[in-house]
Amino acid sequence: MMPTDSRSADAAVIALRAHHLVCMLTYIGKGYTPGFVSNYDRIVAAVDGGCVIRIVEGPDDICEPLARDENAHCHRCSVDWRDRQAATALSDLLGRDFNPGASIGLDDEDVRQMRQAFQHGKLRAPCTGCQWNALCTGVAAAGFKDARIKPSAVPPEACS
Ligand code: SF4
Repeated sequence: MMPTDSRSADAAVIALRAHHLVCMLTYIGKGYTPGFVSNYDRIVAAVDGGCVIRIVEGPDDICEPLARDENAHCHRCSVDWRDRQAATALSDLLGRDFNPGASIGLDDEDVRQMRQAFQHGKLRAPCTGCQWNALCTGVAAAGFKDARIKPSAVPPEACS
């Protein structure tokens, strides 16, 4: 992956826009293109492995396969709006800063709380108008059994 703009220049740090922390909860290997999915799989494994996450503004490491197209939705202000909604909701839930520039790690307890909040609608503000809304609602309703993020499933070597 070639980092550009706000994306990560450090292989051990994953650059994510805030709403993608919410999206990762219900990621089941579906996405816009095969390249998008394989890149997303790598990032989920790294986050599972405990890599540091740096919150960025605009296109991030998940957007990377799409964002070189200047017309990609990743560049739209509506997506920035999702990030602001997510940063506020995550900060309220976990008591930490999720705005651009923050460095965070997610542990099992964080993901458990995020899943529970998502199921109860407390992390759904970023989802307004999203084309994946029904799919994500279904994944949560099924107890996240098909979600690819599996806390503690991957050792820390995934960061390097
Ligand atoms: S509905 Fe859209 S914004 Fe919400 S978690 Fe799913 S993909 Fe992310």
